[in-house]
Amino acid sequence: MKLGVTRSVGLVGLDGTIVEVEVALGSGLPRTVIVGLPDSALNEARERCRAAIAHVGLTWPSQLVTISLSPAALPKSGSHYDLAIMAAVLTATGHVSPPARLRGCVILGELALDGRVRAVRGILPSVLAAQKAGCRHVIVPAAQVAEARLVSGIKVAGVATLSELVAVLRGGVAALPTPAVVPDVVDPPSTPDLGDVAGQVEARWAVEVAAAGGHHLYLHGPPGVGKTLLAERLPGLLPRLGQAESLEVSAIRSVCGLGLESGLVTRAPYSAPHHSASVAALVGGGSRVASPGAVSLAHHGVLFLDEAPEFRPTALEALRTPLESGQVVLLRSQAQTTYPARFQLVLAANPCPCGMRESSGIECTCAPMAIRRYKERLSGPILDRVDISCHLKPMTQSYLRAARGAMESTRVVAERVLVARERQRARLGGLPWPTNAAVPGPWLRRELPLPVGVEMLDTHVAKGLLSARGVDKVLRMRCTRDCHS
Ligand SMILES: [Zn+2]
Repeated sequence: MKLGVTRSVGLVGLDGTIVEVEVALGSGLPRTVIVGLPDSALNEARERCRAAIAHVGLTWPSQLVTISLSPAALPKSGSHYDLAIMAAVLTATGHVSPPARLRGCVILGELALDGRVRAVRGILPSVLAAQKAGCRHVIVPAAQVAEARLVSGIKVAGVATLSELVAVLRGGVAALPTPAVVPDVVDPPSTPDLGDVAGQVEARWAVEVAAAGGHHLYLHGPPGVGKTLLAERLPGLLPRLGQAESLEVSAIRSVCGLGLESGLVTRAPYSAPHHSASVAALVGGGSRVASPGAVSLAHHGVLFLDEAPEFRPTALEALRTPLESGQVVLLRSQAQTTYPARFQLVLAANPCPCGMRESSGIECTCAPMAIRRYKERLSGPILDRVDISCHLKPMTQSYLRAARGAMESTRVVAERVLVARERQRARLGGLPWPTNAAVPGPWLRRELPLPVGVEMLDTHVAKGLLSARGVDKVLRMRCTRDCHS
């Protein structure tokens, strides 16, 4: 029996495991079998490989070809195993004999029927897993060499076609020993500037304070007053991501199939799902192994829910766990997948379903009952976690004209936010919470001297106007006021 062995990576969430791909050519009826919990995309690998092999002038072995992927208990999904399977088959048939330095090399990529190598999802976390497992070389689709090279200490070869893979495996390509260079971090295309938002002084302040303390924010007011404009500018006010945060955010983008051509993500991400989004689109989903949703794409950044009351109640309900724990745990038939989801939530809502209630000149057509139901959709557990609520009023054109050009830019405000964040870090030094927003109520009540005007808090609690959680919010906002002045 002839054997060929190569390696690839299986991803569950952002965690990669080295998968050994073994191919055995044996006697028996000529057919190809894949074993080791493959999904349908992986099962179709044999059809893609059989078609692609003709483009290097070879034919698929007319024997019993058994392809085994181990560890067998790990569910394997996706088409990125194609190249590793093909390399193992070519090794078993004796068409290639990889040099010693390439044995144990991790191979990732999908084959097209005409022998081209296609890009696949999850290159960054897969190469990170290869690096952790001690691999020295990886072979990836040529289009994704830059992404693979974000991982230091590993040599990367890019192949655009099956013929190039054969050439690399025969050791005839000098591309492989090139040193892995971590490219310079490139800033994403310019983010929208806060200086473009005229007027709305109070709401601008609310956004700045939210950025300073990491607080969730609720913006409400009629359409066109600038709720979306302000939410879009919040990520620009947040500090740059640290090295570990940057790797996590980039790995999530990679798993979602979003490109990393310009290097690691270094700015806080922004995710704004439409209100018709399903629960799976919002928090993640999938049939066998779950993929990340909008909450994970907003990890270390901002999740903006425009027209929040229009979201399905089940979708809003699904936000509670990530808001509480900073992660999403998705149980599927073959694996439990965990994705990080620690985001800053910005909710926006109109005053009524038609949106015209506070607009002058246009009559609101909503029944009082409909308005009440609309407002109630956001009440309770979600709003309980939102520290800042801000009402935006329509601005008059003359005020807008006067205010235009005189507004502070993102750069100026971000500097103040950074100072506030540094003060918080010093104050919370040694504690597990990075921002004031994350500090739990019991700690606030135990450790903080009660603010001036505490009698007023007492009165409000006695009258039922303020809940225990409401008192916590007041204390938490006071912490941020102390840091941000
Ligand atoms: Zn209305």
